[in-house]
Amino acid sequence: MAELVKGKDVAAKIREEISAELEQLKNKTGKVPGLAVVLVGEDPASQTYVNNKEKTSKKLGFHSEVHRLPESISQEELLKLVDQLNNDDNIHGILVQLPLPDHIEDEAVIHAISAEKDVDGFHPVNVGNLMIGEKSYIPCTPHGVIKMIEYTGFDLKGKNAVVVGRSNIVGKPVALLLLQRHATVTICHSKTQDLPGVCSSADVLVVAAGQPEMVKGDWIKPGAVVIDVGIHRIDDKLKGDVEFESAEKVASYISPVPGGVGPMTITMLMVNTLEAFKHLNGLD
Ligand code: NAD
Repeated sequence: MAELVKGKDVAAKIREEISAELEQLKNKTGKVPGLAVVLVGEDPASQTYVNNKEKTSKKLGFHSEVHRLPESISQEELLKLVDQLNNDDNIHGILVQLPLPDHIEDEAVIHAISAEKDVDGFHPVNVGNLMIGEKSYIPCTPHGVIKMIEYTGFDLKGKNAVVVGRSNIVGKPVALLLLQRHATVTICHSKTQDLPGVCSSADVLVVAAGQPEMVKGDWIKPGAVVIDVGIHRIDDKLKGDVEFESAEKVASYISPVPGGVGPMTITMLMVNTLEAFKHLNGLD
């Protein structure tokens, strides 16, 4: 039976480190990191994510601001707010919750956030820096995935890593981070042929396909590390992209859903905001 990689436990350890560093920085500068989250409209899932971000940042002692805006807000007005936040010295990290309503272009808003405050890591400058291995804000979910793999003690060097999913938010950045750690990386997507065959070559398998319980136990190489990014509510239960019951019998480590990658995402947002605070105060 696989050992569980509990994001909750990994996140708790990182949050302790954040609290200790925040205390030191507060004593040194008299200031605390500030995170501004912008929510447009009333999408229930987005509201939950934003509430959790607010709760966590307050709990850790960050300055937290949530700007809740009506669905009808114009792109121009939203860009004006982003500009204000870019110029606000109490704010070090800015996150605009996606998706945005159809009349607002996601790209225009992401590009408007100062790259130095882009704690989601979606600005093209940060994406480019990640690509070439320069310092950048790493998108939160992929960063969390890597921390979870590191937590298992698994040495990625020279190993086969397969990533299922090629989104800009999860799949592609996860693949780059695995490559930086010297894994041999294969990226799969909806047009990949023989997905089970490719998955079965993986020493590390990261699944972010958005397809409930798609990856079965018999697709998994015995002893592989499996990180399941997917999250779906089915019959009032949360499920991942991996069929947990069959996969846990084959893998050496597997992340559960819930309690796996989910808790890592917000924690890595706090890590990025702390980094932004240090950077903007010349302390990095
Ligand atoms: P997405 O829909 O943007 O991308 C899915 C990717 O999977 C695409 O590249 C697509 O080509 C690939 N794919 C789809 N069907 C496939 C198939 N049958 N075979 C192979 N590849 C296939 O999704 P995303 O934003 O990358 O998110 C992926 C999953 O992770 C979703 O379930 C999402 O809810 C979850 N997610 C969780 C967190 C978290 O914090 N836990 C964060 C982000 C996303």
